[in-house]
Amino acid sequence: MSGIRVTVWNEGVHERVDAKVRELYPNGMGAQIAQYLEKQPGIASVRVCELHHDEQGLPEEVLNSTDVMTWWGHKAHKELTEENVERLHKRVLDGMGLIVLHSGHHSKIFKKLMGTSCDLKWREIGERERIWVVDPAHPIADGLPEYFELPHVEMYGEHFDIPQPDRQVFISWFQGGEVFRSGCCWHRGKGKVFYFRPGHETFPIYYDENVLRVIYNAVKWAAPTGVKEITRKNVKPIENVFIDP
Ligand code: ZN
Repeated sequence: MSGIRVTVWNEGVHERVDAKVRELYPNGMGAQIAQYLEKQPGIASVRVCELHHDEQGLPEEVLNSTDVMTWWGHKAHKELTEENVERLHKRVLDGMGLIVLHSGHHSKIFKKLMGTSCDLKWREIGERERIWVVDPAHPIADGLPEYFELPHVEMYGEHFDIPQPDRQVFISWFQGGEVFRSGCCWHRGKGKVFYFRPGHETFPIYYDENVLRVIYNAVKWAAPTGVKEITRKNVKPIENVFIDP
C-alpha cells in the first residue's frame, strides 16, 4: 500500500471529565484531527489511539505500522509507562515522524527527544494569537497565508526551553504581548519531529482550516524518507588500507 499511515494519538482524558471539552469535541480531539487527515491526498490510513486503549494505544503492531504519529496529551503525561516511552523513542530514531501538539510539550517523549525541560510561560484568558510564517519556503508552510489568526487561545510565551530548532516555521504573537516559537522542526536519528503550538482543549482550535492544514503539511514533511539501512558497528575498511608497520 502506498501513502502515509498515520496514527493520531490522543490522551482522551479531558473529553471524558470536562463537559465543555466534550461539547466541543463530542468524539474526541483525535477524531476531529483524523477526519480531516483521512480526506487528504497521499494519506493511506488514519487511526486514533488513546491512553485508555490496550497498551496505552501503543502496542508494537501499531508503532510498526505507523509512518507518522501526532501526539496530544496534557493531564496524564505521567501515566505513560517508561516502556512505552522507550518504544516510541526507538521508533522515532528509526524513522517514524512525530508531530507534537500544544500541551504535548510536556510529554515524556518530547522531553526525552529534546533533552531539556520544555517549560514555558502560559495564561488562559482567551486572547488572540497571530501566527506568522517565518520560513515561507518550508513544506509545512505550503498553501498558508503569510499569517493567520486564532481569535481565542491559551497563551504560551518565551522562554520555551527547547534546543535550537533545525528549522523554525512559525512564530506567534499574542494580544497580551508575548511571542513564542510555535512551529519548530528537528531531526532525531532517521526521524523527524515537529512541534506545533495551537490546540488548547477548551477552544475550537482543531476546527480551524489553517491549523488542520499545518498538521497535514507536517505529516507529509515528517513521513519517512532517505536512507533505509544504516550501519552503526565496528566495520572493515571499504578500500584496501596499507598501514606501515
Ligand atoms: Zn492548553
